[in-house]
Amino acid sequence: MTLLKQKISLFFILALSYLQAFTQVEKFANTITSSDLKDHLYKIASAEMKGRETATEGQRTAAAYIEEQFKQYHLLPGWEGGYQQQFPVFRDSLVRASLNINGRELEFDSEFYVTSNSGFNIAFQSGEIVFAGLGRSDTSSDDYKNVNARGKVVVVWPKAADYYSLQRAAKKNGAEALLIVQSRFSKGNAPREARMYVRDYRQDSLPNTFVVSDKLLPVIFKDHLAGIDKAMKAGTDVSKSYPVPVKLEHAKITEHLQSSNVIGVMEGTDKKQQAVVLTAHYDHLGARDSVIYYGADDDGSGTVTVLEIAQAFSLAAGAGMKPRRTIIFMTVSGEEKGLWGSAYYSDHPAFPMDSTSANVNIDMIGRIEKGRKGDSLNYIYVVGDNRLSSDLRPISEGLNSKHHKLHFDYKYNSPDDPERIYYRSDHYNFAKKGVPAIFYFSGLHEDYHRPTDTPDKIRYDLLSHRAQTIFYTTWEIANRDEMLKRDLP
Ligand SMILES: [Zn+2]
Repeated sequence: MTLLKQKISLFFILALSYLQAFTQVEKFANTITSSDLKDHLYKIASAEMKGRETATEGQRTAAAYIEEQFKQYHLLPGWEGGYQQQFPVFRDSLVRASLNINGRELEFDSEFYVTSNSGFNIAFQSGEIVFAGLGRSDTSSDDYKNVNARGKVVVVWPKAADYYSLQRAAKKNGAEALLIVQSRFSKGNAPREARMYVRDYRQDSLPNTFVVSDKLLPVIFKDHLAGIDKAMKAGTDVSKSYPVPVKLEHAKITEHLQSSNVIGVMEGTDKKQQAVVLTAHYDHLGARDSVIYYGADDDGSGTVTVLEIAQAFSLAAGAGMKPRRTIIFMTVSGEEKGLWGSAYYSDHPAFPMDSTSANVNIDMIGRIEKGRKGDSLNYIYVVGDNRLSSDLRPISEGLNSKHHKLHFDYKYNSPDDPERIYYRSDHYNFAKKGVPAIFYFSGLHEDYHRPTDTPDKIRYDLLSHRAQTIFYTTWEIANRDEMLKRDLP
């Protein structure tokens, strides 16, 4: 055999194996089917999962289901020998709250309530209150200038209800407790129900804050009220100490709970020291009384897509086509509460962030957004792909043009997107750490965050094409020669 012939046959062998690999990948992509996605979603968004609220039984049931699938796909446990990365969640419940001003015992809920970020227990009384007008010493006003609020109960009568800045001002001035007078006070706003937090916010120790109805102004200030009202309308400084007996109490209990991210790992081959992280959140809003928020699209659709992509990779691995890089399949919780699970992961990564080539994130890809019709249905919003790496968009677009040719809509990727979608899902916690991220989303609809986001409304035909599109991109990032370069600011 001549040299030339050898070269030619080598070329043919290479071309053939490339073609083979190409059709093989397509074969594995085709294992992501409408019916598999549907089967999983009818479980994830079933009544049994009770809306999958973070740190509840429904969330744990969903986590167990996902873990079970990861085991079936022969994924390795991704966190300390298990599949679940637990993170702490706190939940406060009110034990009692009372407020007595000028000898009058106020009625909880119909006359006052205590804000849910009032963290520590307090029982306090004094013969004096400090009135600090609008209560904004940290901005331009003169409030707090002529009074000493240290260790006192401070009363403010603001025009707008930016409670947090009022609380900060009260803290800065050393107030023991803060009473905010509210003009449109209505019954039923008292946060009696347990509310969850992700860190022990008592570290911030804002003063306990009592919101009171403005109908109580005459009870508080008696004869002084007319003068105060007039002076405030004239814009003069009204801050002054008054001899008003006040007695207040606030007691809460804090439960220490847990939620989890479910992590399954497929170890890579020659580049296993690098990784791709595929994410979707499996938590949703839970149930209010007996009404379940099923969260089929949000984000059951992303959760089942992660499962199906994991299965496709596992079938490929079984056929001797393991990915070169390690793939971390992760469904996170706490997203609806404020991206808690992904934030926790980004501080406690299962794989170093510096060696994580990309995060591929999926949140709500099973529906057609409001207002879209006709032949424009074959679309998906792609967000974040050109923010940190110039490699990512060409990869994603190149593969899409070879396969499903979805219309990639970049509307939500605009830096001045009023919905701020780029900041509203879990990929953002990766991007924040410098990891290039690509986020897939099919838009908002009338069932968004309503109990009617149910699995019967999912377009499984579209979902499977979107899921396959995401699979191809994940495959390429996992198998290409280089990690995605981080060359954009
Ligand atoms: Zn949501």
